[in-house]
Amino acid sequence: MRKLLSSLCVLAACGATAKEQPHNIIMVIADGMGPAYTTGYRYYNDDPKTKEVEATIFDKYLVGMASTYPAPVSGYVTDSAAGATALSAGIKTYNGAIAMDVDKNPVETVLERAKQYGLKTGAVVTSQVNHATPASYLAHNEYRRNYNEIADSYVDERINGELKFDVLFGGGWQYFIRDDRQLVKELTSQGVQYIDAYQQLSTLKNDKPALGLFADVGLPHALDDSNRYRLSAMTKTATELLASQDNGYFLLVEASQVDWAGHSNDISAAMAEMDDLAKTIEYLESYVAQTPNTTVILTADHSTGGLTLAAHGEYKWQPALLRKQLHSPKVIAESITKQKLAKSAIDKLFNFELNEDEIALITAATDEAAEKLAAYQKLSEEAQNKQRKPSAEYIVTKTVKKIIDGRTNTGWTSGGHTAVDVPIIAFGKYADKFEGHLDNTDIAKKVFKLLEQHRD
Ligand SMILES: [Zn+2]
Repeated sequence: MRKLLSSLCVLAACGATAKEQPHNIIMVIADGMGPAYTTGYRYYNDDPKTKEVEATIFDKYLVGMASTYPAPVSGYVTDSAAGATALSAGIKTYNGAIAMDVDKNPVETVLERAKQYGLKTGAVVTSQVNHATPASYLAHNEYRRNYNEIADSYVDERINGELKFDVLFGGGWQYFIRDDRQLVKELTSQGVQYIDAYQQLSTLKNDKPALGLFADVGLPHALDDSNRYRLSAMTKTATELLASQDNGYFLLVEASQVDWAGHSNDISAAMAEMDDLAKTIEYLESYVAQTPNTTVILTADHSTGGLTLAAHGEYKWQPALLRKQLHSPKVIAESITKQKLAKSAIDKLFNFELNEDEIALITAATDEAAEKLAAYQKLSEEAQNKQRKPSAEYIVTKTVKKIIDGRTNTGWTSGGHTAVDVPIIAFGKYADKFEGHLDNTDIAKKVFKLLEQHRD
C-alpha cells in the first residue's frame, strides 16, 4: 500500500507525503573489487557490434575513490576483516579483527546503530554469513576465523531485545547446524523463518526475521550456481522484506566472491561475479527510482590478485570469450579428470575451440597428475600421511586458468590482496556526500551521520 501511495504521490507531486517516507541505507561491498575489475567488466560487457565502448552501471554512478590501508600495525595492505571494520565502524584496526579496535575492544557498527534506532537490518552475501565482511557488521571477535563463535553471537546477542538481523541470506550450514549447537533450530524455535533453497525466497513473510542459508560454506561460484544471478535475487527479496511503513532499514549486500576469484587468479569466475553484482546494482537503481528516500553506496574493501588487463608487454586484452563461459575452471577440470574426453567434448566445456598448443597443455597436466599420483601410491603409509595427496583436479584447474588467461591475455601479480584505492559508486538520496577521495573509515562516519536523522 505504501508503495502504491508513494507512486501516486510521484505522479501528483505531493511532496509532503514523500518527505515522510522512511530513509533506507543500502551498503554494497564488492570484496576484492579494485579498479581493474570495474574496468575489466566494461570491456567484458562491450558490444562488439558498436563503435563505442558502452558505459557500465558502475561508470554511471562512480563518485570517488577510497583508500583501504589498515592500522599501522598491519602495514598498508588490508585484509577483509580490517577493511570491513573500517567500513562498518569507521576505525582502522589490525588485519583479522572483526569490529574490534587494535586493543581488542569491540566497536559499535552502523548496522548495530541502525538497530538501536529502531530501523530494520539485514545482510545478504555470497560467502558464508559469518565470513569476515558480514561478521564485521553483525559481530565482534578478535579473530575472523572463529567462525563458530561468530555464528553463536548472531543467535545470542540482542539489541533492544531483538536479534541484530531481520534478514540474513548467504551460505553456512556447517556453522549453524552443528553437533554442539543447533543454531537453526534455536532460531526457528524463537519464531525466525528459515529457508535453504533459492526457490523458497518468495515464501518469506515480512512480519518475522528471516534466515536463508543456501550452501554448506560459501555459495557456488556464480558460473556454477543454479541461479547465476543469486545475489540480485536475494537482494530483491531482502529489500521487499525490510521495507516498512514506520522506519527505514540498513542493508548490507556483499558480492563476496569477486575476492575469491581474485585469490585463485580466475578471470572467468571474477567477471561472472561482477556480472551478478551489476545485475544487483541495476535492480537497486530501479528500486531507488521507486523508493527515492534510499541511499545506495557501493565500494570494495581492497583489490585482490593484482589483476592486469593485458600481460606480457602485449597491447591486447580480449575478454569476449569470457562472456560465453558456462562453467568455472574448477568444474571444467573436474570433468576433464573424471574421464578421458574427446577434443570436441573438451571444446564444449570451454565453449570455444582449443588449438593444438592448448590441448597439449591439458595432456601435459593430466600426465603430470597421473605421474604424481603414481609416485604417491608407491610411498609407505607413513610417508603418505606426511604429505598431501596430489590432486589431479587442482593441477588441471591451474592449466584451465592458464589457457583462459592466455586467450584473453590476462595477468595477475599476486594470490593475495593489493593496496590500491578502490572505486566508490553511489546513487539515490545523499549520494553526493560520498564524492571525492575518501578514506574507507570516512564512509562509515558518513553512514553514522545519515543514521542520526532516525534518532529520537
Ligand atoms: Zn581476500
